[in-house]
Amino acid sequence: MQQLSALPHSYKLVRRESRPARTVVRLNNGAAFGTDEIALCAGPCSVESREQIEATARAVAAQGANVLRGGAFKPRTSPYAFQGLGHDGLKLLRDAADRAGMAVVTEVLDPRDVPLVAQYADILQIGARNMQNFSLLRETGEAGKPVLLKRGVAATIDEWLMAAEYLLVAGNDQVIMCERGIRSFDPATRNLLDITAVPVLRALTHLPVIIDPSHGTGAARLVAPMALAGIAAGADGVLVEVHPDPPSAASDGPQSLTFEQFNALVRQMDRVARALGRSVPASLAA
Ligand code: PEP
Ligand code: MN
Repeated sequence: MQQLSALPHSYKLVRRESRPARTVVRLNNGAAFGTDEIALCAGPCSVESREQIEATARAVAAQGANVLRGGAFKPRTSPYAFQGLGHDGLKLLRDAADRAGMAVVTEVLDPRDVPLVAQYADILQIGARNMQNFSLLRETGEAGKPVLLKRGVAATIDEWLMAAEYLLVAGNDQVIMCERGIRSFDPATRNLLDITAVPVLRALTHLPVIIDPSHGTGAARLVAPMALAGIAAGADGVLVEVHPDPPSAASDGPQSLTFEQFNALVRQMDRVARALGRSVPASLAA
């Protein structure tokens, strides 16, 4: 294959050729990243209350979402902005996910919180702002839980793969790469969602790759077209922000989908997935 990577000291463990097959990350509730079924991660930006997270979990699980997202420790640009509910938020998130039959993905901001977050989460999220926090990568790599590694806001593909290499060196190969948009010169969208990263990563690494069109665009009306583009490009899953009442969200309201918008998106994803010989998960509603 044509050389796509330029970094001289190449990543040994994450590179595609180091494994006979692609890595599949499987969770206890049956969700999988890296199969023909597209993993559906959905939920609010931040966990805000029991009512908010439980209503969201019920609504998205009924559409087939199998991983509940929600931040309890929030990386905010301003120290005055809502910082998340912390430990209480983790408990609410876990309860809501269990009731809905979902797995949990949530961000760990600080190496000191890794054991706590690992008690509640099925997948530990490393946020874009922390992609090259090497002590956090080491600590998270040793936690024994799958990791969702967001691309840094201005990280090259090589830097992102090297960050993943830290997790594998620490003994954890259950790593999901998440493209969430990079900084660009153009303020028309919050970030520039690099759909190209999906086929590029699929060529360079055996790790599953998913797309986050919420942070990738910053605008609810752009989420569906970019989620579909990500699937068409070969993504193993999507991560989408959904809120019962986006205008009142404590964070990222403008990019959060209503339940109705999420339902419509899943129907569209189903059609695109089928056209490619793939599928979306069945509804978890009883
Ligand atoms: C998030 O998923 O809520 C988040 C903060 O994402 P990112 O690190 O991609 O900004
Ligand atoms: Mn968010």
